[in-house]
Amino acid sequence: MNPIYAAMGTTIFEEISARARETGAINLGQGFPEEDGFPAVRQAAAEALIARSNQYPPMMGLPELRAAVAAHYAAHQNLPARASDVLVTSGATEALAAALLALIAPGDEVLLIQPLYDAYLPLVRRAGGIAKLVTMAPPDWALPREALRAAIGPRTRLLLLNNPVNPLGKALDADELAFLAELCVAHDLVAICDEVWEHVVFDGRRHIPLIGLPGMAERTVKIGSAGKIFSLTGWKVGFVLACPALLTPITRAHQFLTFTTPPTLQIAVAAGLASPEPAFAAMRDGYQRSRDRLAAALAAGGYAVLPSGGTYFLTINLSASGLDESDRDFCARIVRDHGVAAIPLSAFYAEDAPDTFVRLCFAKSDATLDEAARRLVAARSVARAPQAAARDIA
Ligand code: PMP
Ligand code: GLN
Repeated sequence: MNPIYAAMGTTIFEEISARARETGAINLGQGFPEEDGFPAVRQAAAEALIARSNQYPPMMGLPELRAAVAAHYAAHQNLPARASDVLVTSGATEALAAALLALIAPGDEVLLIQPLYDAYLPLVRRAGGIAKLVTMAPPDWALPREALRAAIGPRTRLLLLNNPVNPLGKALDADELAFLAELCVAHDLVAICDEVWEHVVFDGRRHIPLIGLPGMAERTVKIGSAGKIFSLTGWKVGFVLACPALLTPITRAHQFLTFTTPPTLQIAVAAGLASPEPAFAAMRDGYQRSRDRLAAALAAGGYAVLPSGGTYFLTINLSASGLDESDRDFCARIVRDHGVAAIPLSAFYAEDAPDTFVRLCFAKSDATLDEAARRLVAARSVARAPQAAARDIA
Protein backbone atom coordinates (compact mmCIF):
# COMPACT_ATOMS: atom_id res chain seq x y z
CA MET A 1 0.00 0.00 0.00
CA ASN A 2 1.15 3.54 -0.55
CA PRO A 3 2.39 4.82 2.85
CA ILE A 4 0.38 8.04 2.47
CA TYR A 5 -2.85 6.04 2.67
CA ALA A 6 -1.55 3.60 5.28
CA ALA A 7 -1.07 6.48 7.71
CA MET A 8 -4.41 8.14 6.98
CA GLY A 9 -7.79 8.01 8.72
CA THR A 10 -11.26 8.57 7.25
CA THR A 11 -12.00 12.19 6.27
CA ILE A 12 -13.39 14.38 9.03
CA PHE A 13 -16.56 14.97 6.96
CA GLU A 14 -17.36 11.27 6.66
CA GLU A 15 -16.43 10.67 10.30
CA ILE A 16 -18.69 13.41 11.64
CA SER A 17 -21.60 12.60 9.30
CA ALA A 18 -21.39 8.95 10.39
CA ARG A 19 -21.58 10.09 14.06
CA ALA A 20 -24.57 12.28 13.18
CA ARG A 21 -26.35 9.33 11.54
CA GLU A 22 -25.62 7.02 14.50
CA THR A 23 -26.83 9.51 17.08
CA GLY A 24 -29.62 11.15 15.07
CA ALA A 25 -27.94 14.53 15.66
CA ILE A 26 -28.65 17.66 13.63
CA ASN A 27 -25.74 17.68 11.20
CA LEU A 28 -24.08 21.10 11.00
CA GLY A 29 -20.80 19.31 10.23
CA GLN A 30 -20.30 18.23 6.62
CA GLY A 31 -21.26 21.08 4.32
CA PHE A 32 -24.44 20.29 2.42
CA PRO A 33 -27.75 22.12 2.15
CA GLU A 34 -30.78 20.61 3.87
CA GLU A 35 -32.87 21.31 0.79
CA ASP A 36 -31.93 20.65 -2.83
CA GLY A 37 -31.61 23.85 -4.85
CA PHE A 38 -32.70 25.04 -8.31
CA PRO A 39 -35.77 22.89 -9.15
CA ALA A 40 -35.55 23.82 -12.86
CA VAL A 41 -32.02 22.41 -13.00
CA ARG A 42 -33.18 19.14 -11.44
CA GLN A 43 -36.14 19.04 -13.85
CA ALA A 44 -33.72 19.50 -16.77
CA ALA A 45 -31.67 16.54 -15.51
CA ALA A 46 -34.78 14.37 -15.17
CA GLU A 47 -35.88 15.20 -18.72
CA ALA A 48 -32.40 14.66 -20.14
CA LEU A 49 -32.27 11.22 -18.57
CA ILE A 50 -35.13 10.12 -20.85
CA ALA A 51 -34.74 12.34 -23.91
CA ARG A 52 -30.98 12.49 -24.34
CA SER A 53 -28.12 10.01 -24.70
CA ASN A 54 -26.87 8.26 -21.62
CA GLN A 55 -23.70 7.03 -23.32
CA TYR A 56 -20.16 8.31 -22.87
CA PRO A 57 -19.98 12.04 -23.58
CA PRO A 58 -16.76 13.54 -25.02
CA MET A 59 -13.82 13.28 -22.63
CA MET A 60 -13.51 17.09 -22.35
CA GLY A 61 -17.20 17.44 -21.47
CA LEU A 62 -20.34 18.11 -23.52
CA PRO A 63 -19.80 21.08 -25.88
CA GLU A 64 -22.95 22.74 -24.50
CA LEU A 65 -21.60 22.67 -20.94
CA ARG A 66 -18.11 23.86 -21.93
CA ALA A 67 -19.74 26.77 -23.78
CA ALA A 68 -22.06 27.48 -20.85
CA VAL A 69 -19.17 27.61 -18.35
CA ALA A 70 -17.26 30.05 -20.58
CA ALA A 71 -20.37 32.23 -21.10
CA HIS A 72 -21.14 32.14 -17.37
CA TYR A 73 -17.66 33.34 -16.40
CA ALA A 74 -17.80 36.04 -19.08
CA ALA A 75 -21.15 37.29 -17.79
CA HIS A 76 -20.58 36.97 -14.04
CA GLN A 77 -16.84 37.51 -13.62
CA ASN A 78 -15.96 39.51 -16.70
CA LEU A 79 -13.48 36.84 -17.89
CA PRO A 80 -12.71 36.47 -21.60
CA ALA A 81 -13.21 32.69 -21.30
CA ARG A 82 -13.40 30.37 -24.32
CA ALA A 83 -15.24 27.06 -24.41
CA SER A 84 -12.06 25.40 -25.66
CA ASP A 85 -10.33 26.41 -22.38
CA VAL A 86 -12.89 24.48 -20.27
CA LEU A 87 -12.68 20.87 -19.07
CA VAL A 88 -15.62 19.18 -17.31
CA THR A 89 -14.69 16.95 -14.35
CA SER A 90 -16.46 14.78 -11.81
CA GLY A 91 -16.63 17.44 -9.15
CA ALA A 92 -14.01 19.92 -8.02
CA THR A 93 -12.33 17.05 -6.19
CA GLU A 94 -11.45 15.36 -9.46
CA ALA A 95 -10.40 18.69 -10.95
CA LEU A 96 -8.01 19.23 -8.05
CA ALA A 97 -6.62 15.71 -8.35
CA ALA A 98 -6.13 16.01 -12.11
CA ALA A 99 -4.52 19.46 -11.82
CA LEU A 100 -2.12 18.40 -9.07
CA LEU A 101 -1.21 15.10 -10.75
CA ALA A 102 -0.61 16.90 -14.02
CA LEU A 103 1.28 19.95 -12.86
CA ILE A 104 3.48 18.62 -10.04
CA ALA A 105 6.75 16.95 -10.96
CA PRO A 106 8.27 14.88 -8.15
CA GLY A 107 10.08 17.18 -5.71
CA ASP A 108 8.26 20.35 -6.76
CA GLU A 109 7.26 22.59 -3.88
CA VAL A 110 3.64 23.70 -3.52
CA LEU A 111 2.56 26.66 -1.39
CA LEU A 112 -0.47 25.86 0.75
CA ILE A 113 -2.31 28.15 3.13
CA GLN A 114 -3.69 26.83 6.44
CA PRO A 115 -6.47 26.26 7.34
CA LEU A 116 -6.77 24.10 4.24
CA TYR A 117 -9.43 21.92 2.68
CA ASP A 118 -8.86 18.31 3.69
CA ALA A 119 -8.08 16.88 0.24
CA TYR A 120 -5.21 19.24 -0.58
CA LEU A 121 -2.32 17.84 1.39
CA PRO A 122 -2.82 14.14 0.54
CA LEU A 123 -3.27 15.00 -3.14
CA VAL A 124 -0.13 17.18 -3.24
CA ARG A 125 1.92 14.50 -1.49
CA ARG A 126 0.56 11.65 -3.61
CA ALA A 127 1.52 13.62 -6.71
CA GLY A 128 5.11 13.79 -5.40
CA GLY A 129 4.94 17.42 -4.28
CA ILE A 130 6.53 18.93 -1.19
CA ALA A 131 4.07 21.05 0.81
CA LYS A 132 5.26 24.45 1.97
CA LEU A 133 2.70 25.48 4.57
CA VAL A 134 1.92 29.00 5.68
CA THR A 135 -0.86 29.90 8.09
CA MET A 136 -3.62 32.49 8.37
CA ALA A 137 -3.86 33.14 12.09
CA PRO A 138 -6.69 34.34 14.30
CA PRO A 139 -8.08 36.79 15.20
CA ASP A 140 -8.25 38.32 11.70
CA TRP A 141 -6.98 35.39 9.56
CA ALA A 142 -4.99 37.87 7.45
CA LEU A 143 -3.05 36.59 4.47
CA PRO A 144 0.48 35.92 5.82
CA ARG A 145 2.33 37.96 3.20
CA GLU A 146 5.81 37.78 4.69
CA ALA A 147 5.52 34.06 5.39
CA LEU A 148 4.38 33.46 1.82
CA ARG A 149 7.35 35.34 0.43
CA ALA A 150 9.72 33.54 2.76
CA ALA A 151 8.35 30.10 1.86
CA ILE A 152 9.23 30.45 -1.81
CA GLY A 153 12.46 28.81 -2.92
CA PRO A 154 14.02 27.72 -6.21
CA ARG A 155 11.89 24.52 -6.33
CA THR A 156 8.56 26.25 -5.65
CA ARG A 157 6.28 25.84 -8.66
CA LEU A 158 2.68 26.11 -7.50
CA LEU A 159 0.30 27.97 -5.23
CA LEU A 160 -2.84 26.07 -4.26
CA LEU A 161 -5.39 28.66 -3.20
CA ASN A 162 -8.94 28.32 -1.93
CA ASN A 163 -11.06 31.47 -2.24
CA PRO A 164 -13.53 32.00 -0.59
CA VAL A 165 -11.89 29.95 2.13
CA ASN A 166 -13.51 26.82 3.50
CA PRO A 167 -13.58 26.59 6.55
CA LEU A 168 -13.20 30.29 7.49
CA GLY A 169 -15.82 31.91 5.29
CA LYS A 170 -13.17 34.47 4.36
CA ALA A 171 -13.44 36.01 0.88
CA LEU A 172 -10.02 37.40 -0.06
CA ASP A 173 -10.16 41.10 -0.92
CA ALA A 174 -8.80 42.84 -4.01
CA ASP A 175 -5.60 43.87 -2.24
CA GLU A 176 -4.84 40.34 -1.02
CA LEU A 177 -5.48 38.91 -4.47
CA ALA A 178 -3.31 41.55 -6.14
CA PHE A 179 -0.51 40.60 -3.74
CA LEU A 180 -0.87 36.92 -4.66
CA ALA A 181 -0.92 37.68 -8.38
CA GLU A 182 2.26 39.75 -8.08
CA LEU A 183 3.90 36.98 -6.08
CA CYS A 184 3.02 34.37 -8.72
CA VAL A 185 4.29 36.54 -11.56
CA ALA A 186 7.50 37.51 -9.73
CA HIS A 187 8.35 33.88 -8.89
CA ASP A 188 6.92 32.25 -11.99
CA LEU A 189 4.38 30.20 -10.03
CA VAL A 190 1.24 28.53 -11.37
CA ALA A 191 -1.84 29.13 -9.20
CA ILE A 192 -4.44 26.41 -8.80
CA CYS A 193 -7.51 28.29 -7.58
CA ASP A 194 -10.26 26.31 -5.93
CA GLU A 195 -13.17 28.72 -6.34
CA VAL A 196 -16.06 26.33 -5.64
CA TRP A 197 -17.60 28.97 -3.35
CA GLU A 198 -17.45 31.71 -6.01
CA HIS A 199 -21.23 32.27 -5.97
CA VAL A 200 -21.70 31.98 -2.21
CA VAL A 201 -20.47 35.41 -1.12
CA PHE A 202 -22.36 37.83 1.11
CA ASP A 203 -22.97 41.44 2.04
CA GLY A 204 -22.79 42.72 -1.52
CA ARG A 205 -19.35 41.25 -2.22
CA ARG A 206 -18.42 40.23 -5.74
CA HIS A 207 -16.13 37.28 -6.25
CA ILE A 208 -12.75 38.26 -7.72
CA PRO A 209 -11.16 35.44 -9.75
CA LEU A 210 -7.35 35.39 -9.55
CA ILE A 211 -7.20 34.33 -13.21
CA GLY A 212 -8.53 37.77 -14.21
CA LEU A 213 -5.65 39.70 -12.59
CA PRO A 214 -2.70 41.05 -14.63
CA GLY A 215 -0.28 38.33 -15.67
CA MET A 216 -2.46 35.49 -14.35
CA ALA A 217 -4.38 34.27 -17.43
CA GLU A 218 -1.42 32.15 -18.54
CA ARG A 219 -0.59 30.82 -15.08
CA THR A 220 -3.90 30.09 -13.36
CA VAL A 221 -6.08 27.00 -13.19
CA LYS A 222 -9.57 28.03 -12.06
CA ILE A 223 -11.75 25.29 -10.55
CA GLY A 224 -15.52 25.49 -9.99
CA SER A 225 -18.29 23.13 -8.89
CA ALA A 226 -21.96 22.93 -9.84
CA GLY A 227 -22.60 21.27 -6.49
CA LYS A 228 -22.00 24.56 -4.69
CA ILE A 229 -23.56 26.87 -7.28
CA PHE A 230 -26.88 24.99 -7.38
CA SER A 231 -27.02 23.55 -3.83
CA LEU A 232 -26.75 20.02 -5.25
CA THR A 233 -23.58 18.74 -3.61
CA GLY A 234 -24.15 15.11 -4.61
CA TRP A 235 -23.98 15.88 -8.32
CA LYS A 236 -20.21 16.09 -8.55
CA VAL A 237 -20.00 18.12 -11.72
CA GLY A 238 -16.90 20.32 -11.69
CA PHE A 239 -15.09 22.43 -14.24
CA VAL A 240 -11.60 23.73 -14.95
CA LEU A 241 -10.76 26.91 -16.84
CA ALA A 242 -7.13 27.25 -17.94
CA CYS A 243 -4.99 28.25 -20.93
CA PRO A 244 -4.09 25.42 -23.36
CA ALA A 245 -0.55 24.93 -21.96
CA LEU A 246 -2.01 24.15 -18.53
CA LEU A 247 -5.29 22.54 -19.58
CA THR A 248 -3.71 19.97 -21.91
CA PRO A 249 -1.71 18.11 -19.24
CA ILE A 250 -4.68 18.34 -16.83
CA THR A 251 -6.82 16.71 -19.54
CA ARG A 252 -4.27 13.89 -19.84
CA ALA A 253 -4.63 13.19 -16.11
CA HIS A 254 -8.44 13.49 -16.25
CA GLN A 255 -8.77 10.97 -19.08
CA PHE A 256 -7.37 8.25 -16.82
CA LEU A 257 -9.05 9.33 -13.60
CA THR A 258 -12.73 9.38 -14.56
CA PHE A 259 -12.63 10.04 -18.35
CA THR A 260 -16.13 11.57 -18.27
CA THR A 261 -18.97 12.82 -16.06
CA PRO A 262 -22.66 11.77 -16.42
CA PRO A 263 -23.98 13.54 -19.55
CA THR A 264 -27.48 14.18 -18.24
CA LEU A 265 -26.13 16.12 -15.29
CA GLN A 266 -23.88 18.08 -17.65
CA ILE A 267 -26.91 19.07 -19.74
CA ALA A 268 -28.78 20.28 -16.67
CA VAL A 269 -25.78 22.22 -15.34
CA ALA A 270 -25.39 23.91 -18.73
CA ALA A 271 -29.02 25.05 -18.54
CA GLY A 272 -28.57 26.18 -14.94
CA LEU A 273 -25.49 28.27 -15.64
CA ALA A 274 -27.54 30.30 -18.10
CA SER A 275 -30.06 31.23 -15.37
CA PRO A 276 -30.67 34.96 -14.96
CA GLU A 277 -28.66 36.72 -12.25
CA PRO A 278 -31.65 37.04 -9.83
CA ALA A 279 -31.66 33.24 -9.44
CA PHE A 280 -28.10 33.34 -8.07
CA ALA A 281 -28.84 36.41 -5.99
CA ALA A 282 -31.83 34.61 -4.41
CA MET A 283 -29.62 31.67 -3.47
CA ARG A 284 -27.06 34.01 -1.89
CA ASP A 285 -29.71 36.04 -0.05
CA GLY A 286 -31.25 32.88 1.37
CA TYR A 287 -27.91 31.70 2.75
CA GLN A 288 -27.13 35.17 4.08
CA ARG A 289 -30.41 35.18 6.00
CA SER A 290 -29.57 31.74 7.41
CA ARG A 291 -26.10 32.92 8.40
CA ASP A 292 -27.57 35.90 10.23
CA ARG A 293 -30.22 33.79 11.94
CA LEU A 294 -27.77 31.25 13.33
CA ALA A 295 -25.15 33.88 14.23
CA ALA A 296 -27.72 35.97 16.12
CA ALA A 297 -29.10 33.01 18.07
CA LEU A 298 -25.63 31.81 19.03
CA ALA A 299 -24.43 35.30 19.98
CA ALA A 300 -27.52 35.79 22.15
CA GLY A 301 -26.62 32.55 23.90
CA GLY A 302 -23.09 33.70 24.71
CA TYR A 303 -21.09 32.37 21.79
CA ALA A 304 -18.35 34.40 20.11
CA VAL A 305 -19.21 34.10 16.41
CA LEU A 306 -16.66 35.08 13.77
CA PRO A 307 -17.73 37.00 10.66
CA SER A 308 -18.43 34.96 7.51
CA GLY A 309 -18.21 36.73 4.15
CA GLY A 310 -18.73 33.64 1.99
CA THR A 311 -19.30 29.83 1.96
CA TYR A 312 -22.13 28.41 4.08
CA PHE A 313 -19.98 28.07 7.19
CA LEU A 314 -19.74 30.01 10.44
CA THR A 315 -16.91 29.69 12.94
CA ILE A 316 -17.33 29.97 16.69
CA ASN A 317 -14.48 30.68 19.08
CA LEU A 318 -14.80 28.43 22.12
CA SER A 319 -12.35 30.19 24.41
CA ALA A 320 -13.89 33.59 23.65
CA SER A 321 -17.25 31.99 24.44
CA GLY A 322 -16.05 31.13 27.94
CA LEU A 323 -15.49 27.44 27.17
CA ASP A 324 -12.33 25.79 28.40
CA GLU A 325 -12.51 22.80 26.08
CA SER A 326 -10.66 21.78 22.91
CA ASP A 327 -12.50 21.86 19.58
CA ARG A 328 -12.38 18.06 19.29
CA ASP A 329 -13.65 17.55 22.85
CA PHE A 330 -16.43 20.08 22.27
CA CYS A 331 -17.50 18.42 18.99
CA ALA A 332 -17.43 14.96 20.62
CA ARG A 333 -19.53 16.25 23.53
CA ILE A 334 -22.15 18.10 21.52
CA VAL A 335 -22.82 15.20 19.18
CA ARG A 336 -22.98 12.74 22.10
CA ASP A 337 -24.91 14.77 24.66
CA HIS A 338 -26.69 17.53 22.75
CA GLY A 339 -27.58 16.16 19.33
CA VAL A 340 -25.56 18.55 17.15
CA ALA A 341 -22.68 17.57 14.85
CA ALA A 342 -19.97 20.12 13.95
CA ILE A 343 -16.43 20.12 12.60
CA PRO A 344 -13.36 20.99 14.73
CA LEU A 345 -11.35 23.59 12.82
CA SER A 346 -8.08 21.85 13.74
CA ALA A 347 -9.02 19.17 11.19
CA PHE A 348 -8.08 21.72 8.51
CA TYR A 349 -4.46 22.03 9.68
CA ALA A 350 -1.40 19.86 9.11
CA GLU A 351 0.61 21.59 11.86
CA ASP A 352 0.28 24.22 14.59
CA ALA A 353 -3.50 24.03 14.66
CA PRO A 354 -5.40 26.35 16.97
CA ASP A 355 -7.81 24.17 18.93
CA THR A 356 -10.53 26.53 20.07
CA PHE A 357 -12.54 27.01 16.87
CA VAL A 358 -15.48 25.03 15.49
CA ARG A 359 -17.13 25.18 12.03
CA LEU A 360 -20.92 25.11 11.69
CA CYS A 361 -22.83 24.72 8.41
CA PHE A 362 -25.83 27.06 8.23
CA ALA A 363 -27.33 25.83 4.91
CA LYS A 364 -30.37 24.55 6.81
CA SER A 365 -34.03 25.44 7.33
CA ASP A 366 -34.96 28.03 9.95
CA ALA A 367 -36.47 25.32 12.15
CA THR A 368 -33.28 23.26 12.03
CA LEU A 369 -31.08 26.27 12.75
CA ASP A 370 -33.27 27.39 15.66
CA GLU A 371 -33.25 23.95 17.24
CA ALA A 372 -29.50 23.53 16.69
CA ALA A 373 -28.85 26.93 18.26
CA ARG A 374 -31.05 26.06 21.25
CA ARG A 375 -29.05 22.86 21.79
CA LEU A 376 -25.69 24.59 21.34
CA VAL A 377 -26.63 27.28 23.84
CA ALA A 378 -27.60 24.55 26.32
CA ALA A 379 -24.28 22.80 25.64
CA ARG A 380 -22.42 26.02 26.48
CA SER A 381 -24.36 26.59 29.68
CA VAL A 382 -23.68 23.16 31.16
CA ALA A 383 -19.96 23.36 30.39
CA ARG A 384 -19.38 26.77 31.92
CA ALA A 385 -17.50 26.82 35.23
CA PRO A 386 -20.04 27.50 38.03
CA GLN A 387 -18.44 30.89 38.83
CA ALA A 388 -18.53 32.10 35.23
CA ALA A 389 -22.04 30.80 34.81
CA ALA A 390 -23.07 32.69 37.96
CA ARG A 391 -21.56 35.88 36.50
CA ASP A 392 -23.64 35.32 33.35
CA ILE A 393 -26.81 35.19 35.43
CA ALA A 394 -25.86 38.22 37.60
N1 PMP B 1 -12.98 22.39 -2.53
C1 PMP B 1 -13.58 23.00 -1.52
C2 PMP B 1 -12.94 24.20 -0.89
C3 PMP B 1 -14.80 22.52 -1.03
O1 PMP B 1 -15.38 23.15 -0.01
C4 PMP B 1 -15.37 21.38 -1.65
C5 PMP B 1 -16.65 20.79 -1.17
N2 PMP B 1 -17.38 21.57 -0.38
C6 PMP B 1 -14.72 20.79 -2.72
C7 PMP B 1 -13.51 21.30 -3.13
C8 PMP B 1 -15.26 19.57 -3.40
O2 PMP B 1 -16.18 19.89 -4.39
P1 PMP B 1 -16.94 18.75 -5.21
O3 PMP B 1 -18.02 18.24 -4.35
O4 PMP B 1 -17.43 19.44 -6.44
O5 PMP B 1 -15.93 17.69 -5.51
N1 GLN C 1 -16.79 20.32 1.15
C1 GLN C 1 -17.64 19.77 2.14
C2 GLN C 1 -17.37 20.47 3.48
O1 GLN C 1 -16.50 21.27 3.59
C3 GLN C 1 -17.44 18.29 2.33
C4 GLN C 1 -17.16 17.50 1.11
C5 GLN C 1 -16.83 16.10 1.49
O2 GLN C 1 -17.42 15.54 2.38
N2 GLN C 1 -15.85 15.55 0.85
O3 GLN C 1 -18.06 20.18 4.41
